[in-house]
Amino acid sequence: MSTNLKIRCLPVEMAFEAAADESILAAALRAGVMLPHSCKTGLCGTCRVRVVDGHVDFNTAKARGLSPHDRAEGDVLLCQTRAVSDVTLACNIVEETRDVPVRRIAAHVVGVDPLSEDVRRIRLALPEGETFGFVAGQHMNVVMSGGVRRCVSLANAPSGGDAGLEMHLRNYGGVLSKYVFESIKDGDLVRMEGPLGTFVLRGGSDRPLLFVAGGTGFSPVKSMIETLIEQRSSRPMSLYWGGRRPPDLYLHELAGHWHDHVGLDYVPVVSDGEPEDAWQGRTGFVHQAVMDDFDDLSGHDVYVCGAPPMVEAARRDFIGARKLPPRQFFADAFHPS
Ligand SMILES: Cc1cc2nc3c(=O)[nH]c(=O)nc-3n(C[C@H](O)[C@H](O)[C@H](O)COP(=O)(O)OP(=O)(O)OC[C@H]3O[C@@H](n4cnc5c(N)ncnc54)[C@H](O)[C@@H]3O)c2cc1C
Repeated sequence: MSTNLKIRCLPVEMAFEAAADESILAAALRAGVMLPHSCKTGLCGTCRVRVVDGHVDFNTAKARGLSPHDRAEGDVLLCQTRAVSDVTLACNIVEETRDVPVRRIAAHVVGVDPLSEDVRRIRLALPEGETFGFVAGQHMNVVMSGGVRRCVSLANAPSGGDAGLEMHLRNYGGVLSKYVFESIKDGDLVRMEGPLGTFVLRGGSDRPLLFVAGGTGFSPVKSMIETLIEQRSSRPMSLYWGGRRPPDLYLHELAGHWHDHVGLDYVPVVSDGEPEDAWQGRTGFVHQAVMDDFDDLSGHDVYVCGAPPMVEAARRDFIGARKLPPRQFFADAFHPS
């Protein structure tokens, strides 16, 4: 093995050694340093960090989970990055997540609710006496047999975390979907790592909030909105929620309730409705509905979650054509594993 290089992680001052012929993520995990990660193939973007000092070899061709904008800002994906010199990384560049430890936990299934034909809500209870901290918007790695990992967002507000965790799962037909739609049952033990990710509700701003969700991208947005409601936030809030057909807006009534009770401006948008849906509301792509309604987003904080093409279109058009400063755009794309 070649000479070991020193990797420093700010702001928590963790350090470990990496060989020049291994990814920095592999070196961290070998050293027992639990840095956020998931797919290890450059797709999901979970292991994104910023290089503060030193030289790295970043395989941009495989780093599809990183937008050109983030790359230009100096971010890399650790699973696709090798150290060329000693390196300093900003591993936790979001203040809100800084003191929230990443842990391995196991929780019992206490409820499986069909929310639509292809979306299920899973409710999980922690072992008695255990607590679990996270920030609204974060996700978990669900660890399946053989070590297969899938990212799943947390849908409940963190304040309810001691009581349990809530997840919304769509049926994509893969290993996680097969488990959730074919064999899951109350009492099952689900192994997870987390909380992960930097798609979190940021403090320190009183700008109006615009949430844009596609399908189960509603899940982390629900966690954020419920948190703001608990905090009695006075920030104006809008939610644009898009689905192909009306049942994809699987908690439509809850969003309507937010509209009636806390004044959230709720705009449901359907892209592929059928005549039998008798849909009376907005149609088209959800990010386009935002484009149609706002000429200028420069005074908003915008949180977007859903399928990668929707997230990328929103990033491109809100920043490019609606004057949204990049630092006021926050997103999680549900990249397939
Ligand atoms: C940060 C993050 C948070 C996520 N949160 C959630 C969540 O809260 N709820 C949820 O349902 N999913 C979420 N996902 C997606 C999730 O990780 C899995 O990809 C998804 O549950 C499918 O897993 P699977 O094992 O059933 O299918 P896989 O084996 O992963 O894939 C099966 C097939 O479905 C396709 N596919 C998988 N996922 C998607 C997708 N998102 N869009 C389009 N095609 C897809 C694959 O390309 C493949 O062809 C999240 C992903 C990320 C990166």
